[in-house]
Amino acid sequence: MEILNYINGEWTKPSVKEYFDVLNPATGGVVARTPLGGFAEVDAAARAAAEAFPAWRRTPVQDRVQYLFTLRNLMRANHDEIARLITEECGKTFEEAKAEMVRAFENVEVAAGMPMMMKGEIVEDIAPGIDEMMIRQPVGVCATIAPFNFPGMIPFWYLPYALAAGNTYVIKPSEKVPMTMQFIFKLIEQVGFPKGVVNLVNGAKDTVDAILQHPTIRAITFVGSTNVAKYIYSQGALHGKRVIAQGGAKNPVIVLPDADMDMATRIIADSAFGCAGQRCLAVSLAVTVGEARNTFSEMICDAASTRVVGYGLDAGVQMGPLINSASRDRVEQLIGLGEREGAVATVDGRGTRVKGYEGGNFVRPTILSNVRAGTEIAQTEIFGPVLSLMHVNTIEDAIQLVNSGAYGNQASLFTSSGSAARKFRYEAEAGNIGINIGVAAPMAFFPFSGWKESFFGDLHGQGMDAVEFFTQKKVVVERWPKEWSRKF
Ligand code: NAD
Repeated sequence: MEILNYINGEWTKPSVKEYFDVLNPATGGVVARTPLGGFAEVDAAARAAAEAFPAWRRTPVQDRVQYLFTLRNLMRANHDEIARLITEECGKTFEEAKAEMVRAFENVEVAAGMPMMMKGEIVEDIAPGIDEMMIRQPVGVCATIAPFNFPGMIPFWYLPYALAAGNTYVIKPSEKVPMTMQFIFKLIEQVGFPKGVVNLVNGAKDTVDAILQHPTIRAITFVGSTNVAKYIYSQGALHGKRVIAQGGAKNPVIVLPDADMDMATRIIADSAFGCAGQRCLAVSLAVTVGEARNTFSEMICDAASTRVVGYGLDAGVQMGPLINSASRDRVEQLIGLGEREGAVATVDGRGTRVKGYEGGNFVRPTILSNVRAGTEIAQTEIFGPVLSLMHVNTIEDAIQLVNSGAYGNQASLFTSSGSAARKFRYEAEAGNIGINIGVAAPMAFFPFSGWKESFFGDLHGQGMDAVEFFTQKKVVVERWPKEWSRKF
């Protein structure tokens, strides 16, 4: 697929010298080449968005959301085609890719409620004859910098809210997965947004830096690894922008002895190995308490070793490859590091070869047993299909272990005890909590939270937080003296 930018309602071929080869993670074949642009492309997109802003802002909100209804219907009509592209460039299975897009549709649907959500407030007579009101107005030109692992969903945590609230937009997808947004922008073109309202700029670090520094861009949302999230947060702030920066994760799950072990095993395996572990809400550390240890360890090893690994477009495949060979090597090296630190690879996915897909970046599900607290493997984000097992004697020790981690994206508990669940919900230091849930992904009408090293900012994507982020509050204090009133 040819990768172009979409600026001011036109498909443009950037005049760049460098390209990034996009490889199908299962076959190793080149499927696209991402142009690595820089300031000129971002500048053109930001200018187009700035020019489109005054008229878009004046378009009544109930008319703005009509564009979103059309976009949602077009995306639903092309659900399979979008999912196929996600599998081709990102590696997850077709079913996972379809499920990803359902969350994108949900966000468009929630944002279509903007006429209700962006209403202001008014208090009459704050002093005799004086009224005070708060009005929400759009911020201006906003931008999203997206990661590789959810090419279709993540931009929709922000884009529909921003547009519905009257902002104009620039999206930069990950250079590793440009095809999904390329296709979605074909749909955006069909929707017929006014020129410049939504723009697509492809590229990598230079493009990101241009977005960070561009004086016209007022707000940035970022999702990706923690180091880059910190960079975006600090550079965005330095250049006077609002920033949401979501970072990496190392999500723990506690399994209590009273948990339903069949259910816990099935759900934890899906969480750890779904999307090949390349999910910011993937469980990566299972902490068993007391007698849960033996049963859970045995059952989770079975679940790991029986998972069907292969190309996500082939029938019956439950887990696809990692995004690229560098990721595969990194995950395999981390398994080795775990062993050197005293863990045992009870199920070892290194050296996986899938027949017919010898060029793929496959690592089978892996279980690292006897992982010790304080080791590097217990603290590092692996971002692959590796579940580390740890053991403690009490729920207090387990919660302390959970809270000792640097990240705070998600923490889960499996139990049949209400009081244990309440204690955990109250004490666990993470932004998304799962009780008997493996991937506690918030629905579109809740904020997608995140704490500690997993999140930099205050407002989140989705729901009312997104409305807050993409609007600025104006407070008006108004006096109309009686003596000015005409007699009618
Ligand atoms: P990444 O940080 O490598 O890239 C994300 C984006 O930043 C891409 O668009 C990329 O072009 C850009 N980028 C990369 N390096 C940069 C640099 N040095 N300077 C400026 N821009 C740069 O992340 P990724 O590998 O695409 O995604 C995986 C990571 O994202 C994992 O750490 C995962 O946990 C995290 N993630 C977090 C969430 C969340 O909700 N918190 C969701 C999805 C993924």
